Amino acid sequence: MSERVIPLIDQRLRSHAATVPAVAVPATGLLGDALGRPLRDLRISVTDRCNFRCSYCMPKSIFDKDYPYLPHSALLSFEEITRLARIFVSHGVQKIRLTGGEPLLRKNLEILIEQLAALRTAEGRPLDITLTTNGSLLQRKAAALKAAGLQRVTVSLDGLDDAVFRAMNDVDFPVADVLKGIEAAQAAGLGPIKINMVVKRGTNHGQILPMARHFKGSGIVLRFIEYMDVGATNGWRMDEVMPSAEVVKTIHSELPLVQLDPAAPGETAERWGYADGSGEIGVISSVTQAFCRDCNRARLSTEGQLYLCLFATHGHDLRQLLRGDASVSEEQLASAIAAIWQRRDDRYSELRASMPPDASTGGRRVEMSYIGG
Ligand code: SAM
Ligand code: SF4
Ligand code: SF4
Repeated sequence: MSERVIPLIDQRLRSHAATVPAVAVPATGLLGDALGRPLRDLRISVTDRCNFRCSYCMPKSIFDKDYPYLPHSALLSFEEITRLARIFVSHGVQKIRLTGGEPLLRKNLEILIEQLAALRTAEGRPLDITLTTNGSLLQRKAAALKAAGLQRVTVSLDGLDDAVFRAMNDVDFPVADVLKGIEAAQAAGLGPIKINMVVKRGTNHGQILPMARHFKGSGIVLRFIEYMDVGATNGWRMDEVMPSAEVVKTIHSELPLVQLDPAAPGETAERWGYADGSGEIGVISSVTQAFCRDCNRARLSTEGQLYLCLFATHGHDLRQLLRGDASVSEEQLASAIAAIWQRRDDRYSELRASMPPDASTGGRRVEMSYIGG
């Protein structure tokens, strides 16, 4: 009989209070952290719920009907999210990614997208607004998302073989419906579309070549992600990680590849182009190749905790500032956020790279479904 694992501490409760510093930090768009890294990319989780149970993210044994999901009142409202997003943009954020849980489960998400699409950078440019989804509801929602101002989508898809895909999502969801969702996104103009495939050795590594063949020449960029030790519930083991170098070698053996230059600083994916010019793939090597040096990403959890690293053990409670008794001005909020970013020295992947395989870094980490990928 399998035992239910009960987390000792609910990580969501662990946070630092965000405070307004005595000396104001004006928003110049040039904010740097303790390692000199700018703030450019904000990932906003709009729900901690999901209709899939991918074993590497929300294993069924933990995320069952008794799991204490956040009540609606704990979630940031669209107005609160937009208020914070405007301040992040004043500090230099240029790209916003909506994520979750499954972001398309959040009711009326189009309204939030409309509000975010109206924001402008200090130079007066619109933001790059994108969304990561499991694709299950895309067929129904693609056109409305585009109309609201969403520019692109990234769809997670871990295989083309129906049996493998159903086993990966663990709710028996058919792959054909996700493929229809991708088609709908393409038809709606939500491109260039990216596909994320998490590779788990022994589970779906046999899908690497079928996926590469399928998306080659389609204009869609397929990206292979190393299975990461995020959260505390997925039972991560190093021997289930397939290093990106091996993924590239597997594809190259049948479909020759050449390495391409990075598209932008801080870009997580290493780019490889098909030698015949029919498109490109990406590999995200968060386990075997640290990329913290250029990490310019902040994450805002569903209930308004600011996380400075995917592997952080604490958030910074911005919701308490928004909802506290004293009404906080935009300048005070901006100063509070700036002070948090200025102290940031997180570089978990680099530190892990210097540890023996399977070593624990200590501390319980927050779940990916809570802060978003
Ligand atoms: N539900 C949406 C989806 O699946 O696209 C958005 C949220 S999901 C947490 C965001 C991304 O994180 C997905 O591409 C997913 O594959 C990835 N992810 C989740 N757990 C992971 C893990 N342990 N290692 C690597 N990637 C992971
Ligand atoms: Fe849901 Fe995305 Fe996590 Fe899969 S990876 S369980 S689809 S949040
Ligand atoms: Fe950024 Fe943390 Fe990932 Fe390093 S480990 S790249 S700091 S999110």
